[in-house]
Amino acid sequence: MTPTDLLTRSLDAVWHPCTQMKQHEAFPLVPITHGQGVWLMSGAEKRYLDAISSWWVNLFGHCHPHINQRLREQLERLEHVMLAGFTHEPVVRLSEELGTLTGHALGHVFYASDGASATEIALKMSMHFWRNSGLPQKTRFVSLAGSYHGETVGALAVTDIPLFREAYAPLVRAAATVTSPDARQAQPGESARDVALRAAAVLEAFLMEHHTETAALIVEPLVQCAAGMVMYDPIYLQRARTLCDQYQVHLIADEIAVGCGRTGSFFACEQAAIWPDFLCLSKGISGGYLPLSLVLTTDTVYQAFYDDATVRGFLHSHSYTGNPLACTAALATLELFHTKQVIARNQTRAQWLAEAAAPIAEHPAVSHLRQQGMILAFDVKTPAPDFSRRMHQHAMERGILLRPIGNTVYWMPPYIIDEEQCQLLGTGTLAALQATLAESGV
Ligand SMILES: *Cc1c(COP(=O)(O)O)cnc(C)c1O
Repeated sequence: MTPTDLLTRSLDAVWHPCTQMKQHEAFPLVPITHGQGVWLMSGAEKRYLDAISSWWVNLFGHCHPHINQRLREQLERLEHVMLAGFTHEPVVRLSEELGTLTGHALGHVFYASDGASATEIALKMSMHFWRNSGLPQKTRFVSLAGSYHGETVGALAVTDIPLFREAYAPLVRAAATVTSPDARQAQPGESARDVALRAAAVLEAFLMEHHTETAALIVEPLVQCAAGMVMYDPIYLQRARTLCDQYQVHLIADEIAVGCGRTGSFFACEQAAIWPDFLCLSKGISGGYLPLSLVLTTDTVYQAFYDDATVRGFLHSHSYTGNPLACTAALATLELFHTKQVIARNQTRAQWLAEAAAPIAEHPAVSHLRQQGMILAFDVKTPAPDFSRRMHQHAMERGILLRPIGNTVYWMPPYIIDEEQCQLLGTGTLAALQATLAESGV
């Protein structure tokens, strides 16, 4: 199909995610014909630097030769087998490798296909653990203000994004929320750490009052991504770990977006030197190739389900649980982490991003330029309504894929971006920002 064909036929037959389809009358879809490295190509002429890793999933660029090769090999061996009653090499090796990456703190892995399902698995496992442990009244959850943990009905319960939550409120048993440790809330003279400790005090007050009915606290460690790349001090995670232990409440780390090296360490939790009771991964774990999600948990949790009685087992499954191709993509991704020393080399890439963003920080409309590893973000003061769509449009015209969240513009590029591409990203983003602001007369 030609790019033009793709456009018209997609609008007829495909209902696109998180989209008011009518807006595509004015703003056409972008047909992508192929991808290579950081680039998404639209026919032979147009290309876009994928500065957001296609919604945070891509780690090593598009069509990576190593991942492609491993997938071809696996394709000739086994495409899929159900995981209930059966097992296979990719799922065993992946589970072992992930356990090793946590120093065996989290040595049991449960699989699903999308991130929201991983959230729901962690919620269900937590509640079921407490029921199996004689504390059946622990059925409630608490999340941070502005939290995002997925959009299925169960995951919406711990997603504090009004647009999503309000539309489907009648279906949702909403969790409680506590103050976010958002470092931008610092008062003059206050550090990010002070803000985090203040937020931790709010959590403490909440748990003191509600621990008997609370099963778990769910957090995105270090960066609340969908909330607008809200960054916070790791002391919050340390305090949360201590408080959860003190009040017999599980800690769920949703590392679906921040895991797999995004924040500078393989798991974001490592920077607080803590392990949660449940750790959710998806998005980058398959290199951005195939739907795969998983929940890592402890031996204590696992043992609470290990019994003769079926009802004490974890009652949850998906048809594609532990799909061999998806697990193979994940193994190939982990191989790249090892052979290319990605975590160490990303320090240089993060530095290139910081240098490319320096001129942007000087723009009078820009505030709170912040960075955590391979995530860089800034806010735009008093933006015109519609800022995010306009900014996206202006960036696309300059060959850069950005998708601001409200007035927050961010970069989350693949880990193969080179210095020149970082500079391109910097100049393109600044030019798009200037064009957007000029258009709205700011
Ligand atoms: C994307 C995301 C999810 C949901 O994953 P899906 O695969 O889109 O269902 C959950 N939590 C966080 C932190 C995410 O960024």
